[in-house]
Amino acid sequence: MTIEAPRTETPASSGADKEPHHSYTSLNTYLNVCQLQYYYRYVEKLPAERTAVALPFGTAMHQALSVQAQAARKGRLLPARELLDSFAAFFKANCEASDNLVFKREETYDDQLDLAGRMIEAVAKEWVDYYNIKSVAEPFRVEIPGVSLPLVGELDMVVEEGTPFDEGGDRPRPVVVDFKTAARSWTDSQPHRALQATVYSYGYREKHGVTPSFRYDVLTKAKTPKVQHLRTVRDADSFARLEKLVSVADRAIRTGIFLPNETSYGCADCPFAGACAGWHCDHARVTSVSARPLQTGECMEAA
Ligand code: SF4
Repeated sequence: MTIEAPRTETPASSGADKEPHHSYTSLNTYLNVCQLQYYYRYVEKLPAERTAVALPFGTAMHQALSVQAQAARKGRLLPARELLDSFAAFFKANCEASDNLVFKREETYDDQLDLAGRMIEAVAKEWVDYYNIKSVAEPFRVEIPGVSLPLVGELDMVVEEGTPFDEGGDRPRPVVVDFKTAARSWTDSQPHRALQATVYSYGYREKHGVTPSFRYDVLTKAKTPKVQHLRTVRDADSFARLEKLVSVADRAIRTGIFLPNETSYGCADCPFAGACAGWHCDHARVTSVSARPLQTGECMEAA
């Protein structure tokens, strides 16, 4: 079976969401989370059976940090109250747009706002970039040899680090910065293994002809939140491996084989767990998957 090239989500500012494409998120879902989840999300485009509140929360924090980054380009650190107001507006809109929003037992909407307030206080103390910011929410679109769709994405922030007075007299170097919210601190090794850092560094290099450094700004959702600035860099071999990885994944996706990964960390909050539970029971489809949740007993009847 050969399937249509799936359309994946892209930041609106890139303009690339008008055409089918691969993105870091879609590739990561296929390669590292679960092929079947990829199928439900990007091929069948099922509505989510549940959306954990962490998703609209993380998106809203990301949007608020983008507002701060735009202000910082002009030398401003926004007051924490103003940034929290931005967050609250984004969070409300994101929650309203989410299918079947669910909170964990101990979570409430107001608790989430309190948590966001503490995180934003940490951001206000730790923000380091101002006039060295070169772009915010910068889109990229690149073609990879042998891949049927373009690879698109959006870089949260690009800064320059270093000055002509640095040891060695180097020119300022471009650094792609990605904002992350995380339940716990990242280990030092995490950025070096992250697919996103490879994809975004590749996107920058293809667009600008220069290999950037990469920095994750990780904001923890702890009682006392903190900001980690974690750096990594990719080389020519990393990019050659990425091209091969995307090329093979692209072929596999078009072949139409999507297997469940039942030991995935994605299972705990999977938006398609109900559909997945009936995946093996649908004998009517020739495809390798069943996207439809079955009624109680339907599986046995079909068998
Ligand atoms: S529940 Fe797990 S195995 Fe099933 S689709 Fe979701 S992530 Fe994949």
